[in-house]
Amino acid sequence: MTEPTGPLTNWAGNITYAAKELRRPHSLDALRTLVARSAWVRVLGSGHSFNEIADPGSEGVLLSLTALPPSVEVDTAARTVRVAGGVRYAELARRVHEHGLALHNMASLPHISVAGSVATGTHGSGNANGSLASVVREVELVTADGSTLTIGRGDARFDGAVTALGALGVVTALTLDLEPAFEVAQHVFTELPLAGLDFDAVSATAYSVSLFTDWRQPGFVQAWVKRRTDQPLNDFPWAAPAAVAMHPVPGMPAENCTQQFGVPGPWHERLPHFRAEFTPSSGAELQSEYLLPRPYAPDALRALDAIRETIAPVLQICEVRTVAADGQWLTPSYGRDTVAFHFTWIEDTTAVLPVVRQVERALAPFDPRPHWGKVFTTPPSELRERYPRMGAFTALAEELDAAGTFRNKFVREMLGL
Ligand SMILES: Cc1cc2nc3c(=O)[nH]c(=O)nc-3n(C[C@H](O)[C@H](O)[C@H](O)COP(=O)(O)OP(=O)(O)OC[C@H]3O[C@@H](n4cnc5c(N)ncnc54)[C@H](O)[C@@H]3O)c2cc1C
Repeated sequence: MTEPTGPLTNWAGNITYAAKELRRPHSLDALRTLVARSAWVRVLGSGHSFNEIADPGSEGVLLSLTALPPSVEVDTAARTVRVAGGVRYAELARRVHEHGLALHNMASLPHISVAGSVATGTHGSGNANGSLASVVREVELVTADGSTLTIGRGDARFDGAVTALGALGVVTALTLDLEPAFEVAQHVFTELPLAGLDFDAVSATAYSVSLFTDWRQPGFVQAWVKRRTDQPLNDFPWAAPAAVAMHPVPGMPAENCTQQFGVPGPWHERLPHFRAEFTPSSGAELQSEYLLPRPYAPDALRALDAIRETIAPVLQICEVRTVAADGQWLTPSYGRDTVAFHFTWIEDTTAVLPVVRQVERALAPFDPRPHWGKVFTTPPSELRERYPRMGAFTALAEELDAAGTFRNKFVREMLGL
């Protein structure tokens, strides 16, 4: 179950985990024994986070669930799916679709693990679409003493249990709500100026809308509009349809992206921007993202436009999207309909960090919550103030993991545990 590893890095390669080994238990019993015998444990999902959130430190155990059975159990009558902790969205979506069912939404890429995604509050886009954590109805955990614990909706602890940054235990399975499968037609439009932009109207025009800017001009270079074919079709009168297939990152091949030009197709082949069989995004990058109350969108756009000459030189692309409020205490979209400002930076940490700080200064008046899985420099004390239920979460972490087995440096610093 132990395997020697060279330096173990995250997907982007900007983080080398200090953990000395990666453990891959082959059974739930082996996992429980391993956890019970370890002083510090963190689970590695698919490693798509850009910071040290998953790193247990040099004395800790980094645990992968990829050797456990990748079970996906669909209950068509209940419209739910129980998915094992190591499964990625690409596989989950394919299996759910085979049963004529669908997830409500997906992130920009299907390559990420389900448990790792909901652990950080990962989201897609759409005014009415909650984060991916919002459809979780039950969490199965292995806690610090190796025992199992299931927390479902209705349990007083549930709202802290899904987006938990891996701090409560090993998530061995999740049960998610499904809905009947639906089709989506994806259109890309180009050149949407900031001047006169009615953000609410634009973001409300379809099931999922993403706006992209390189901040080299005051406006968006692309708008990705994902329309459900079973919902009324709204016009997108503000920009012209793209003449050729597009990739959001300039210079990257459009073949890596999901089908465009309004060709209807299954939900899981349209909701992500990137196709499962190709490298998502640019592959050589860092990412940051800030989630704000949606009414601030116009002012926040103006604030970013005011520093676009600072942003543009280290930016590959910036995506603006929306997320519906949800009830998980630690999701950045907790309790408020949200606008999210995402930045795909160049992969040069030294050049990028000063600009990240400038972006944080520009967005500070708008109560921004950084994405837990991306690069940010927000002081932990400020960050904690932005989560009204932070105290409830830390109490839950103390209750379920009094010895701090699942707390690494990131969790201790950010949550003050
Ligand atoms: C190219 C790219 C595109 C992205 N697009 C989006 C996007 O559209 N929307 C968005 O919101 N984010 C996006 N992200 C960020 C990404 O969704 C998050 O970083 C997410 O957490 C990645 O999931 P993971 O499985 O790789 O998690 P990891 O980075 O492996 O882990 C994240 C956290 O989850 C914990 N964890 C993982 N599995 C378990 C488990 N089974 N039990 C307990 N804890 C666990 C880890 O310990 C860690 O704390 C993107 C990232 C990349 C690289």
